[in-house]
Amino acid sequence: MMQVLPIQNGATTKECPPLGRLIVLTGPSGVGKGTLMRALLQRHPELYYSVSMTTRSPRPGEIDGKNYYFVSRSKFEQLAAQGEFLEWAEFAGNAYGTPREAVLNQVSSGKLVILEIELEGARQIRASFPSALSIFILPPSFDELERRIRGRAQDSEEAIARRLRRAQEEIQAADEFDIQIVNDDFETAVNAIEAALFE
Ligand code: ADP
Ligand code: 5GP
Repeated sequence: MMQVLPIQNGATTKECPPLGRLIVLTGPSGVGKGTLMRALLQRHPELYYSVSMTTRSPRPGEIDGKNYYFVSRSKFEQLAAQGEFLEWAEFAGNAYGTPREAVLNQVSSGKLVILEIELEGARQIRASFPSALSIFILPPSFDELERRIRGRAQDSEEAIARRLRRAQEEIQAADEFDIQIVNDDFETAVNAIEAALFE
């Protein structure tokens, strides 16, 4: 029987996951990406959430291997040099990266794999995987974004300032992505992501 592969926009020299699909969820820090992801995973345990690696220190309550793999800068640089990341980027003074092998294995086994990553990494994935579905989450307003970052109460004043500066640049890039969803009412936003994934 003939096997039908997803169309890769003629991307013969690019990396082509044969069966499942990569989903990129991006948007400024504090917009609610992590909270939306958790709600989605509760509703759809069959989704595969890629746990990233970072040089950032764990926040209170964060667990190594669940929220992130927390590693030293030298370990991160070694892995990056060995090509172990599908994408990686610097964000607000730390490095973040998506483990290549785990993600490609999951996509090959037919899973919907979600990467919750910042703008530069999202751009790298779009370039390498043109068939990935990319979703940009927007805040209802910049003031509300600041309230959410501060309300989370887990970042230093300096980290908050860096994240807000970066957020302004990130929001301007929203149109580069396939779908834009405003995370104002939480349920409405989860439903919109769900519709995009399973339509
Ligand atoms: P990100 O992962 O994008 O950095 P988080 O998921 O940590 O953002 O969310 C930042 C804060 O905003 C959290 O305190 C979260 O509870 C809150 N939040 C998320 N979505 C909403 C929403 N729709 N309305 C109000 N607060 C929200
Ligand atoms: P935080 O420090 O708030 O957990 O994450 C900061 C930013 O890094 C967020 O926008 C988050 O989506 C992003 N991020 C998390 N993991 C990765 C990753 O593997 N790669 C990239 N490029 N960004 C990531």
